[in-house]
Amino acid sequence: MDLNRHEAFAGLAEALEPLTQVAALREAHRCLYCYDAPCTHACPTHIDIPGFIKKIATGNLLGSAQTILEANLLGATCARVCPVQELCEGACVLGPSHHPISIGRLQRHSMDYVSEHGIQVLQAGPATGKTVAVIGAGPAGLSCAGELARNGHAVTIFEKRELSGGLSTYGIISLREPVEVALGEVKMIQQLGVTFSTGVELGRNLQLDELQEDFDMIVLSVGLGRSPHLGIPGEEHILDGLEYVEDSKIATEKMTVGKEVIVIGAGNTAIDCATIARRLGAEKVTVVYRRTAKEMTAYPHEYEFAKQEGIEFRFLAQPVQVALEDDRIVGLLCTKMQLSAPDSSGRSSTVPLPESEFFIPADQIVKAIGQQKPALAQMLGLETRNGYISVDHEFETSIPDLFAIGDCIRSQGDASTVMAVQDGKMAAQALHERLNANNERGA
Ligand SMILES: Cc1cc2nc3c(=O)[nH]c(=O)nc-3n(C[C@H](O)[C@H](O)[C@H](O)COP(=O)(O)OP(=O)(O)OC[C@H]3O[C@@H](n4cnc5c(N)ncnc54)[C@H](O)[C@@H]3O)c2cc1C
Ligand code: SF4
Repeated sequence: MDLNRHEAFAGLAEALEPLTQVAALREAHRCLYCYDAPCTHACPTHIDIPGFIKKIATGNLLGSAQTILEANLLGATCARVCPVQELCEGACVLGPSHHPISIGRLQRHSMDYVSEHGIQVLQAGPATGKTVAVIGAGPAGLSCAGELARNGHAVTIFEKRELSGGLSTYGIISLREPVEVALGEVKMIQQLGVTFSTGVELGRNLQLDELQEDFDMIVLSVGLGRSPHLGIPGEEHILDGLEYVEDSKIATEKMTVGKEVIVIGAGNTAIDCATIARRLGAEKVTVVYRRTAKEMTAYPHEYEFAKQEGIEFRFLAQPVQVALEDDRIVGLLCTKMQLSAPDSSGRSSTVPLPESEFFIPADQIVKAIGQQKPALAQMLGLETRNGYISVDHEFETSIPDLFAIGDCIRSQGDASTVMAVQDGKMAAQALHERLNANNERGA
């Protein structure tokens, strides 16, 4: 696949410049190296943050990268995509008044160093003779596979797409993470001895019983599906938000962006789609959401960023029909809503205001209203919770020796890359103990 699309997508190049050596040293020396550091507690993968920053301050970038990778194999991705304001940097004792340490950017500095120098920091453990199949090469699967390989187990990842990396490759806007960073991590996991089999989809050209025959244990890290249906007339003309982001990352030619674009939804994906449209030339971009700014699931800093990009927001607006002329989109009919009693998610529900329909002109409409629950759960007859795969405290599903991790089990809380990485690490530990115990029993 040709990834040389920088000219076409110049407006979407990685937004944050890398820190220079001097800037990184200066920032590292600002760290107070707290004992029992709150930032380390706030990081879902519990990276020893003062430890890796101290190594940057003493010029030991390889040691710093090693400290990061010991806790989080996808340190390069997380350094770029983590909502640091809500996590490590949000917990920094320097606080907003003294400007928290730029932990994410320092982490990227160390990870870039080993990547640019082609250094494989971690190695595979001595072979145990045990085999594990991991289904899905997103952050959860990569983390789990890499940790298992470090413990000497033979791991094969089966991935349905052409490229591995999951949403880091296909779904996270290049402004935050270029494709090359995600693929660099895939290569690093490969160098740990993990085998990748791409273009293979469980449920299509691979079946569970074949895997159960060939592997000691199986891990599902299949993420979630495409955007759900809105159920409005003309929906077939609306673009899927995930495909919109994907085109902006992977397509070899400049994607088609409308002049007046409407994005339906109010999560981080909606903000990403709106940003892509704006940066790639749309004159007007409007985000349409049926609740208010208070109920948006996008991070507050993302909302602020979008407003600075000139993106408009129409709150309390429910799409009811795509307006077409000669089969081309000319706009979106909406109805005004008002907030009502909270629903099962705890957020205010909405009710339409009678006779309040209004029209927003547009030549392109994108929906970014979340992702469908994992279809595989039903196909395999797995127990579920709110449509997500149910697992116990060791990540085992209702089928013995079949585990699940990442977005496909996240029935509560925000799904994020760093949470998926931590699931992968914890599950690998549980599997390793189980495989060792089986070894001792001679199973
Ligand atoms: C548009 C968008 C932007 C995001 N931005 C951020 C961000 O900035 N920061 C952040 O922390 N998080 C972000 N997230 C969330 C983050 O990307 C996910 O939480 C994370 O990727 C979950 O990892 P995963 O491995 O569980 O799933 P995924 O990344 O979805 O990977 C699942 C993999 O499994 C494969 N697969 C699925 N079914 C099968 C099958 N049957 N057989 C074989 N392979 C299969 C898929 O092709 C995919 O490669 C974003 C999500 C989206 C949608
Ligand atoms: S992995 Fe994410 S949350 Fe953890 S220290 Fe790095 S940037 Fe912060």
